[in-house]
Amino acid sequence: MTLRDGDGGFATTRLEPMLGWARKYSLFCYPFVTACCGMEFMALSGPRFDHARFGAEIPRFSPRQADLLWVVGTISQRQAPALRRIYEQMPEPKWVLAFGTCASSGGFYDNYATLAGIDKIIPCDVYVPGCPPRPEAVLDGLLLLQDKIARGDPRPGVVKPRTDPLKDLVQLRKKSEAST
Ligand code: SF4
Repeated sequence: MTLRDGDGGFATTRLEPMLGWARKYSLFCYPFVTACCGMEFMALSGPRFDHARFGAEIPRFSPRQADLLWVVGTISQRQAPALRRIYEQMPEPKWVLAFGTCASSGGFYDNYATLAGIDKIIPCDVYVPGCPPRPEAVLDGLLLLQDKIARGDPRPGVVKPRTDPLKDLVQLRKKSEAST
């Protein structure tokens, strides 16, 4: 594809990367919120963290108008068919973000009533672990998703912790030993 700039010159690009670049800043969200992670989703949507800054704007009230499904919280076996139906109603191209450990893997609900991760019934693009995940971790997940959309990368991604809890623990111990 060839684009003409204001000076009469030319810029060339391929269609798919250009569409990816445009799509990553134009995400229409459908939040499927079932449990306590919803509190962090509210924090994420508020003025402090404000995920609208990243082009993931106000929620849509119909999956038919959305291309990013946020699965926020525990999914029971009974809710699973509804989630699957919502995913199927979304138009292509579409993406899915698992918000929290429960949505990613079932979390500590290792029982017959809970789905052991949404990828058992729908494809998932980004997993954000945490119980609940901090809003910063979810923003990392959103940026990871945008990067995948821009590159057209279909492989799922997992948000890594910003700090190593083991290293933090060692430093905490050292500080406490030094102060005694
Ligand atoms: S990951 Fe933790 S905070 Fe989120 S829904 Fe599960 S139990 Fe609740």
